[in-house]
Amino acid sequence: MSEAKLREAIVAFGRSIFDRGLTFGSSGNISVRLDDGWLMTPTNASLGRLDPARLARLDGEGRLVSGDAPTKESFLHLAMYRERATARAVVHLHSTHSVAVSCLADLDPQDVLPPITAYYVMRVGRLVLVPYYPPGDPELAEAVRRLAGRHHAVLLANHGPVVAGGSLEAAVYATEELEETAKLCLLLRGEKLRLLTPEQVAELYRRFPS
Ligand SMILES: [Zn+2]
Repeated sequence: MSEAKLREAIVAFGRSIFDRGLTFGSSGNISVRLDDGWLMTPTNASLGRLDPARLARLDGEGRLVSGDAPTKESFLHLAMYRERATARAVVHLHSTHSVAVSCLADLDPQDVLPPITAYYVMRVGRLVLVPYYPPGDPELAEAVRRLAGRHHAVLLANHGPVVAGGSLEAAVYATEELEETAKLCLLLRGEKLRLLTPEQVAELYRRFPS
């Protein structure tokens, strides 16, 4: 896809995400990998009102080439790309239900949400929790980088998800699947659940390798 088309796609997905209340204010950011750098949503920009011409254009070293300054959370995106050669896009949201789950005290940091549906297993897989660090702390990027090689989706504690995909569409859909699964898990809290069995999960990984 051409850079012009990718710019339009970032704007369209941003508006869709914002209009459905999956992010708010100027929170949330989207990036796409180009052959010689990245496109990234700007700092202090609402995902609902992005301008394709003002997206931050970074070179291969992550330096701003044109457009507005990139999101202050660009380091989260770059940490994902650094460890995932196949990642073409990264989405980070402060989506309400995912953030709610990230604030729970009794999480398994190696497997935050149970396998309640096939689509969650196929699009997200095993979600890991990144310990809490203040925004902008270099330790946060390092913590994401350590997990990114094995996980395309991570949940930042008391903060929100960071999800990579082989395309912008794949990254957005996986982030939405994660948000809906977080919502379902909160709805089902306290109920006796029939989870997918380990065999059923293994069969999904066999049929739909990520
Ligand atoms: Zn954030």
